[in-house]
Amino acid sequence: MDHHADTHPCGGEVAPARVAPCGAGVVTSLDRVFRDDTPALQLRGLTKRYDDGTLALEDFGLEIPAGAFFGLLGPNGAGKTTLISAVCNLLRVTDGEVLVFGEPHDTLKARSWVGLAEQDINLDRFLTVRETLEYHGGYFGMDKDEIEGRAEEMIRAFGLTSKRDVRAPKLSGGQRRRLLLARALMHRPRLVILDEPTAGVDFELRQELWAYIRQLHSEGTTILLTTHYLDEAELLCEEIALIRGGHLIARDSADGLREHFGVNRLEDVYVKAMAS
Ligand code: ADP
Repeated sequence: MDHHADTHPCGGEVAPARVAPCGAGVVTSLDRVFRDDTPALQLRGLTKRYDDGTLALEDFGLEIPAGAFFGLLGPNGAGKTTLISAVCNLLRVTDGEVLVFGEPHDTLKARSWVGLAEQDINLDRFLTVRETLEYHGGYFGMDKDEIEGRAEEMIRAFGLTSKRDVRAPKLSGGQRRRLLLARALMHRPRLVILDEPTAGVDFELRQELWAYIRQLHSEGTTILLTTHYLDEAELLCEEIALIRGGHLIARDSADGLREHFGVNRLEDVYVKAMAS
């Protein structure tokens, strides 16, 4: 993937407080009302052609409402990682527009609103758990006191207290997965993107990760999840988009998809959608 150099966003803005979930109390400002109406993600005419000519996304349109738990399903090579990388400004899009809570995706503001837990466990082997989180907070322009407090909060929340001064290579696979998620949440993003967070993890850790993600969602964070596990998508996601060959095939709730495709199981929806 042609990731271009990711410059250090010094002085980046600290992510604002999370938008309160619907019905979570009295609305205190017009700003909040306005924000609630702005979709978390708007993709319009998004096209990505890699340097070798591969067309990974073509004129792709998608809107994800703020506060949604949204699933992205599709076979290998469908364009999911390209889409996520475009949203996170990790690659140059060929054409189209990407807005994050109404802001262009390449602005500091938009970037600070997104937290990404990538599929690969890409932790710096020379940093301890605490340093990993603190470095990430610094990268997103959080101030020193806030960084320390938030890092400790994440360490506790993700059960890493006894490993806080341990470097990544000495963590178990499960601890690394948890750290990856903790790092993605460190700067309090409003949109959390999870690229196959439970691929290859055992039953216990999967349950644990689901609980963290559900908690996040219940607090008002928008979640965009890619997964190959249809049961996971069905269990967690309010809406699912099916993508194939760089195009959006269908988008609805699991029930809506079953109805649309005239089948009883999500597996059959998937098979039909991918064959169509
Ligand atoms: P997914 O995440 O759904 O498996 P990807 O977004 O990784 O799909 O890939 C979409 C298409 O783009 C595939 O055909 C893949 O081979 C191609 N692709 C991905 N990254 C690159 C790259 N850096 N250069 C050329 N082609 C790429």
